[in-house]
Amino acid sequence: MVKAKVAIIGAGLIGLSTAVCISDSIPDCTVTVIADRFTPNTTSDVAAGVLIPHFYPGTSVHQQKQWYRETFDFLSIICNSPNASEAGIHLISGWQIFKTVPDEKVPFWSDVVLGFRSMTERELKKFPQHKFGQVFTTLKCESPLYLIWLEKRLKENGGQVQVRKLEDLWELYGSYDIVVNCSGIGSRKLIGDLEIYPIRGQVLKVHAPWVTHFIRDGDGLTYIFPGIHSVTLGGTREKDNWNLAPDSSNSKNILNRCCALEPSLQAAKDIQVKVGLRPTRCAVKVQKETLVRGNEKLVVVHNYGHGAGGFSVHWGTAKEATQLVKECIAALQQPRCKAKL
Ligand SMILES: Cc1cc2nc3c(=O)[nH]c(=O)nc-3n(C[C@H](O)[C@H](O)[C@H](O)COP(=O)(O)OP(=O)(O)OC[C@H]3O[C@@H](n4cnc5c(N)ncnc54)[C@H](O)[C@@H]3O)c2cc1C
Repeated sequence: MVKAKVAIIGAGLIGLSTAVCISDSIPDCTVTVIADRFTPNTTSDVAAGVLIPHFYPGTSVHQQKQWYRETFDFLSIICNSPNASEAGIHLISGWQIFKTVPDEKVPFWSDVVLGFRSMTERELKKFPQHKFGQVFTTLKCESPLYLIWLEKRLKENGGQVQVRKLEDLWELYGSYDIVVNCSGIGSRKLIGDLEIYPIRGQVLKVHAPWVTHFIRDGDGLTYIFPGIHSVTLGGTREKDNWNLAPDSSNSKNILNRCCALEPSLQAAKDIQVKVGLRPTRCAVKVQKETLVRGNEKLVVVHNYGHGAGGFSVHWGTAKEATQLVKECIAALQQPRCKAKL
């Protein structure tokens, strides 16, 4: 049987994980990742990469929890294997703290992470400005290491990569049977989706190896996430701001806020500033679409719009996009479509 040709647009976390998932589970296809930016120059490289879900108001809680659990389980297996350090996956424990007691003291993901509980009065003494807190252990991806590892896995499965900027998905017509759109914020221009917008995030990556527990303010604005090579200090959330240039007043403000939570960070060294644009939508778009131009049809599977939570749900959405690709291949292999393959 002739293999279906699948092109994945995007080499960030979503494109590479979707490409690996497809190449792992669909033997009768070839996979090519096409992108204008690869690691270390994607949004995904900037992220802290911690598995704490971001809430998507347009996606059901049931669906979000399923994606989160699938991602947690997938990464747990890697974390418990000899591949953990090469893939940059590790467990991380710490505190999520709140200045006012939240309505939802037990979030929907509390039974996915490990050892979730409320903080004791004694633990809260470290944070005198905060009234309530949660303790748990989750997983963290060291973003560039994980992207490199995914790309390596894709190539081991026979997948290919191509550096190329697309102006229009129709440029791939005739060369590929199925196009998987994982272009993140690029989808605004590439497919004209005006529902996607950037939320600018600036973070500092610092050397402070004595910091081993994470601290996240429940407002999501201030966080300290220790990783393998550095500690990520955040952050900012600026809707519709496309500016990728570091802002020195943002950096000062981030450092002040993080030092207020963990004063020892005043001694942090080697401060690097990174900026990324969270590809934000009301709901993540994982969907099939057939584009039509006269008599020509282009089969597309979308997987984009992961906003502030791509790392937390990426394997779940990759699995769902893979299922849609399987359905498209099955439809193309129906007798009347066979000539196209
Ligand atoms: C500061 C910050 C901290 C974060 N922290 C976390 C966290 O701790 N946990 C968490 O779960 N999430 C976090 N996130 C969110 C996470 O980083 C994103 O959800 C995720 O990286 C999105 O991945 P992506 O692959 O969709 O996008 P990207 O990484 O931006 O990749 C998009 C790809 O598409 C390609 N592309 C786009 N348009 C075109 C085109 N026209 N032609 C060719 N190629 C194209 C690009 O070149 C790129 O390769 C954070 C984000 C930021 C900014």
